Formats: sequence, C-alpha cells, structure tokens
Amino acid sequence: MKEMSNLLKAPDKLNGNTLCLLNTRFGKLKVLNVCSERKNKHVYWNCLCDCGTVVGVRGAFLNSGKTTSCGCNRKVAATAHGRHDTPEYCSWSNMIQRCTNEKDDSYAWYGAKGVAVCSKWLSSFEAFYADMGLKPGKGYVLSRNRDKGDYEPGNCSWKTKSENAKEVNDRRFNGNNGQIDIINTP
Ligand SMILES: [Zn+2]
Repeated sequence: MKEMSNLLKAPDKLNGNTLCLLNTRFGKLKVLNVCSERKNKHVYWNCLCDCGTVVGVRGAFLNSGKTTSCGCNRKVAATAHGRHDTPEYCSWSNMIQRCTNEKDDSYAWYGAKGVAVCSKWLSSFEAFYADMGLKPGKGYVLSRNRDKGDYEPGNCSWKTKSENAKEVNDRRFNGNNGQIDIINTP
C-alpha cells in the first residue's frame, strides 16, 4: 500500500530507474497508467488525449516533448497542407492575388503600391503555412506589422479584424502627409 502511494506521486522513480509519469500532463496527453507490455525494453504509458483517444506512448518521448498528442495534432497539420479550402490556404491565396493580380479588387492598395510577397511564400503554400501556422480563429486576418512592408516571415501575424483595422487606420491617418486612403483590407 505504501509502495502504491509512492508510485502515484509524480514525478517519481518507478522500478528504481524510470521516472514515474502518472497524472502528469504533456501537451494534450494526460498519463493514466503504465502499459503492462514493453517494446524493446522501453516503458510505455497509457495516456488520455484531450480529443478522447487513449494511446500508449514511450516515456522518453513524453519527457522530451516529442509526443504531445495521440496524433490528432499531426492530422490537423496534414489536413491543412493538403486541402485547398482551409482558412490558411484562403489567406495565402488572397495575399498573392492582391499583390500580383491587377484584376484583383484590392490590387490598387497592394501590388500597385509595391507591396510584394517574398519568393519563399510566393512559390509555396507549405512554406507559408510552416511560418504562419494555423489561423487562431474565424475573426482573424493575415496582417503586416503596422500595415507596412512586404508579406514575409517576421513581418506578418494573425490578428483580429479590429486589431488589423486599427493599424490600417493609424498608418493611413497619421502617414501619407495627412492624406486619407480608402481602406480596403480583405
Ligand atoms: Zn488526440
């Protein structure tokens, strides 16, 4: 009984040399109990993922941060890469259109004013997605830092529509020698 209560304390030692991970959280995974079976002598832990799936994960992979979900994190990323109807793909596509397509409704405020997309992003949605990640939510837009410069890593972030509109306003009312541009930010 005493042994058991020691075992439940985390982190602690299990069998002398393995960290006890019971009840510890790693990302989306919460450790439930130790797997009875071992593969290649490694200790595996049964974990409950936030999505409801129970998986056995090698302790070393939990400790190192290599595994932080049942695999559902990876599925979200893979889906966004492969599909063309994700919010991130729409943002990427619209960004390129307004900077390069003279027929785009917003071209006058972007491409025509010299706003460009860096070559890395221009040629690859995957590169854009790797740098920008998932759009945090529905009300977010792709925004340039203070509404200036090109679309490139380090100068862009996902912002809420109102945050973005404020930056566009700040620049257009305070810059341009007081001249006010018509605001048309997709
Ligand atoms: Zn999951």
